[in-house]
Amino acid sequence: MAEKNEKVTCPLCGFQFKIDEARTTICQQCPLKGNCRLLIKCPNCGYEMPLVKVPDWLGNWLSKIGRWVSKR
Ligand SMILES: [Zn+2]
Repeated sequence: MAEKNEKVTCPLCGFQFKIDEARTTICQQCPLKGNCRLLIKCPNCGYEMPLVKVPDWLGNWLSKIGRWVSKR
């Protein structure tokens, strides 16, 4: 329940998305159909990352780095 509206930031492209949105979209392409609790996939670039909770300030910081990296 608490997970519902939580957002994660993709470390690769800096895209922010909701966990439940990713589970109902891109995770359906996975054999586990969004039932895993360990990984989440970025709907923007398809990068799969471990699902760890990140505070907002850190998410914003990662997002900046991700944007910087994707421009190179
Ligand atoms: Zn991404």
